[in-house]
Amino acid sequence: MKTSLKVKLWMAFIGIALFLYLTISVLANVVLDAQFKQYTINKLDQKIKDTVALVSESYQRFGGWDAASLENIGVNALKEGLMIRVTDDSGAVLWDAREHNNGLCMAILKNMAENMQSYNTRFKGGYEEKEFAVDAGGDAAGRVAVGYYGPYFYSDLDIQFLGTLNSLLLWAALGSVAVCLVFGAYMARRLTSPIARVVKTAGRIAKGDFNDRIDEESSTKEIAELTDSINTLAQTLDSQEALRKRLTADVAHELRTPLATLQSHVEAFIDGVWEPDEARLKGFHEEILRLSKLVGELEQLSRYEGESLVLNVETFDLAELVRGVAANFEGEFGKKGIEVSLDTQEQYIEADRDKISQVFINLISNALKYTGEGGRVEIRVSGTPHDAKAEIRDTGVGISAEDLPYIFERFYRTDKSRNRATGGAGIGLTIVKSIVEAHKGSVTVESEPGKGSAFFVTLPK
Ligand code: ADP
Repeated sequence: MKTSLKVKLWMAFIGIALFLYLTISVLANVVLDAQFKQYTINKLDQKIKDTVALVSESYQRFGGWDAASLENIGVNALKEGLMIRVTDDSGAVLWDAREHNNGLCMAILKNMAENMQSYNTRFKGGYEEKEFAVDAGGDAAGRVAVGYYGPYFYSDLDIQFLGTLNSLLLWAALGSVAVCLVFGAYMARRLTSPIARVVKTAGRIAKGDFNDRIDEESSTKEIAELTDSINTLAQTLDSQEALRKRLTADVAHELRTPLATLQSHVEAFIDGVWEPDEARLKGFHEEILRLSKLVGELEQLSRYEGESLVLNVETFDLAELVRGVAANFEGEFGKKGIEVSLDTQEQYIEADRDKISQVFINLISNALKYTGEGGRVEIRVSGTPHDAKAEIRDTGVGISAEDLPYIFERFYRTDKSRNRATGGAGIGLTIVKSIVEAHKGSVTVESEPGKGSAFFVTLPK
């Protein structure tokens, strides 16, 4: 059976509270008990000494035994739980607490015994007596015997103090358990509610609903990261899904027009409406070539976009590669009367030569396609210690600000280029981006409609 995080947190909090209570109360009892016992013994010793000193003092003050003074001392001592018996030099009893009030003495001893039993049932104690000589400044004056409940005893006040302390500890424990319950519940709620939300959203994602997002902000780092990841996942899946749907629709759309044309023309041949002459067959051929090119580009795209994009890395000079690609287009640039300028510095990079070559074929062929007669194309290769940079700048039709963010997406073509029937399917730049990103590089564009465009490729060395 799986226990929820809430319950586990709760149990942990209560466990800690109980553990602390037990440790503190055991330690408090053991340490306090020893200390209090020592303190009581010292106090008792002091009381006994004080009483004996009072008797000696009385003897010295009166220059002999004074019955009233002895009684006064004896009664006071009795209040403190001490039973004294004073005898003179010859051993005759001058004052004895038991003779004075035997009932009270017995009651005191019984009360002490009860107190000690109530505090500790294993306490062993009983009547004890200590005898002292009365100090009469050198003369032998007599003796004082002090009796008490020994080895030590707790008075009613002491017992009350210990009881209060223990109940305070108990209340503290109950209080901390209560605080732990409340705080634990609060913490558990704070921790588990975003997790529950993540679980719910993840469940929805699993069912194909990618629109749900987690808005709750968590101050817990890991939970914030978790919700961020789930949101990013949903976002990625959402755009992938949209892209997939659009791709299918786009492919269908791209194929439909040429197929419909071919179909109607072939039907016209069959019905004898048209003669299959050379010009018409040439038109067919061109259409079929266009279709094959499209299928080829789609194939290429799936290869570059798929996870299986394997890079055959080698070291080569980017400048040399770019010059080579540009040279292949020389004839076509010449035909359109476009002036091409090259400004390249040697930049050795580690990359997949064929794929990088494809990047520049696409970019330079776009510059050729979208630049009118008499335009200019500038190609530059430069670099920094870490990156190689290439720039393809043309004075062509340019791209409007609305189109600019989308030109790297599959099948995206600006209306201008659709109307111009330049023949592209809107895949070239998608391939460029896939290849450059697979090399951990970046490609960006700047453009102004009517003035021209510039594409910047950065590749790490
Ligand atoms: P296509 O095969 O249609 O050229 P691309 O993916 O290469 O597809 O480019 C996408 C769109 O970006 C093009 O249809 C065009 O509208 C625009 N584009 C790309 N390069 C340029 C450029 N150098 N000048 C103007 N527009 C461009």
